[in-house]
Amino acid sequence: MPRFLIAIALSLGLLAVPAAADEALYQAIDNDYAYLEDLYLYLHRNPELSYQEQKTMKRIAAELGGLGFEVTENVGGFGLVGVMENGEGPTVLIRTDLDALPLQEQTGLPYASVIRGINQAGEEVSIMHACGHDIHMSTFIGTARRLVELKDSWRGTLVMIGQPAEERGGGARAMLNDGLFERFPLPDYNLALHDGAGAPAGTIGYTSGYALANVDSVDIIVHGIGGHGAYPHTTKDPVVLAAQIVVGLQTLVSRVISPLDPGVVTVGSIHGGTKHNIISDNVKLQLTVRSYTDEVRKTLLDGIKRIAENLGRAAGLPEDKLPEVIVSEDDRTPSTYNDPALSDRVTKAMRAAGVAGIIREIPPVMGGEDFSEYGRTEEKIPGFLFWVGAVNPEEYATTVAAGGSFPSLHSPFFAPDPEPTIKTGVRAMTIAALELLGKAE
Ligand SMILES: [Zn+2]
Ligand SMILES: [Zn+2]
Repeated sequence: MPRFLIAIALSLGLLAVPAAADEALYQAIDNDYAYLEDLYLYLHRNPELSYQEQKTMKRIAAELGGLGFEVTENVGGFGLVGVMENGEGPTVLIRTDLDALPLQEQTGLPYASVIRGINQAGEEVSIMHACGHDIHMSTFIGTARRLVELKDSWRGTLVMIGQPAEERGGGARAMLNDGLFERFPLPDYNLALHDGAGAPAGTIGYTSGYALANVDSVDIIVHGIGGHGAYPHTTKDPVVLAAQIVVGLQTLVSRVISPLDPGVVTVGSIHGGTKHNIISDNVKLQLTVRSYTDEVRKTLLDGIKRIAENLGRAAGLPEDKLPEVIVSEDDRTPSTYNDPALSDRVTKAMRAAGVAGIIREIPPVMGGEDFSEYGRTEEKIPGFLFWVGAVNPEEYATTVAAGGSFPSLHSPFFAPDPEPTIKTGVRAMTIAALELLGKAE
């Protein structure tokens, strides 16, 4: 860790000295790193797109099977579930995601992915683990290996799941719909981690309460009555109407929801028309809509429909040609709520064990994660997702000093520093699980 971070951490009382048991655990994690690095390099070189994670599922299933987990494959597509029962005690679910993204890696790393595949539209694309799900899987297996080795010191049931299609927002729902909570032991707690592209490796960030947003995708088809550009009075121009809708939508966040409630309405795509002098028949808008609470989500989605339809009426369109507002059923993730009591308990244990250089509470983000789905069933299972910094610490220090920024998640330049990231992730997740599982008598 850079010296200035240590100074900040010491001044905030964030650095703890690990006890002897934790020292032994961390030594074991260090000793296991060569194994995890091999796994990481394999996964990084062999990324698979969402809904195509068959080889990845097989590899992770084989790792868990080799450790003595009872493994079931093909849960909700290419998902897998590993169960280890170890006496009376709580059931803890740990989730990793499996999928990668359609990007051509540009990190220049010797182990950069050169894999190509076919996406859902039938196009050939490059594939890269640009969200670090390969880091997550390596950390997940590292944690499993430690918890199996420490089996005499805990009691309860471990449910370790590899989830497909996180990037498409559908994998968690698919696993739940395939009976995750009926066919396998019902968890008392759900845990997950995500690597962070803007924080140094060796640090942990977390948010208590709402941590990630409700993410909805909305399409608006603005119909018009087309004609010659020289005779606008004989048409209903959908380009003008679409422009009014885009501007009208800006009042939702600024004037309709409370200034104290976060919300985002972004029109990310607008397409219509073919030529200078033709008034077209339609314009298509694509929106991303973000919020934390379900009430704000409903207000925003209802408001989009109200504004679009009524501006259509104001333009004089007949009722059967009003703008169509389509909220996607599949392309959405609900907000992630980190149970405050659980966040508190787990991060206290991490701090006491000296898991990372810095463990600090950070602001929520408007990104989305379908880990949230596991806490949204009728059982309302408390969950906790935390961030593990992934930027090489020296690079972090020099970039910050120079006022620069880092390649984000989903960037073709995203290059996590695997060793400190994976080691910190394994430490943190192992300590979290040990805290929640029962103690051996
Ligand atoms: Zn991602
Ligand atoms: Zn991700």
